Amino acid sequence: MIKKDERSDRLKEILLNKKGEVEKDIRLHISRQVGPENLHRVDSVMDQGDLSSLDMGEGVDLALLEMRNNTRKAIDSAILRLDEGTYGFCDDCGGDIEEKRLTVMPFAQRCIVCQRKKEEMDKIEREESVKDPDAPV
Ligand SMILES: [Zn+2]
Repeated sequence: MIKKDERSDRLKEILLNKKGEVEKDIRLHISRQVGPENLHRVDSVMDQGDLSSLDMGEGVDLALLEMRNNTRKAIDSAILRLDEGTYGFCDDCGGDIEEKRLTVMPFAQRCIVCQRKKEEMDKIEREESVKDPDAPV
């Protein structure tokens, strides 16, 4: 029990760090493009999750911001799952996903063993679809 709590504490730290990075990135991008005086508008919109409602004029790469904001939302839901005790487990085998792996890829859905197996399978599938030129596109 204690061991599990320690793990989830560490995982939470990883997720919060990532979230901080993404938010910093969003703010940096916006303050560069439209000036720091617009940052307070961004804060409220980020929480609603609809950056396209921001009218910030030219120069703002909305697609990029949406992408970052989606990452941010994904981190939030990962934190929720962590609190529920459903984050950090492999979709395929149900085992713990390695912490090292989650540090690099916080949204990894499989442990390294199952991921490798899946990649093998994907590769075989790709090769088979290449072999069959009549397959519908
Ligand atoms: Zn697994």
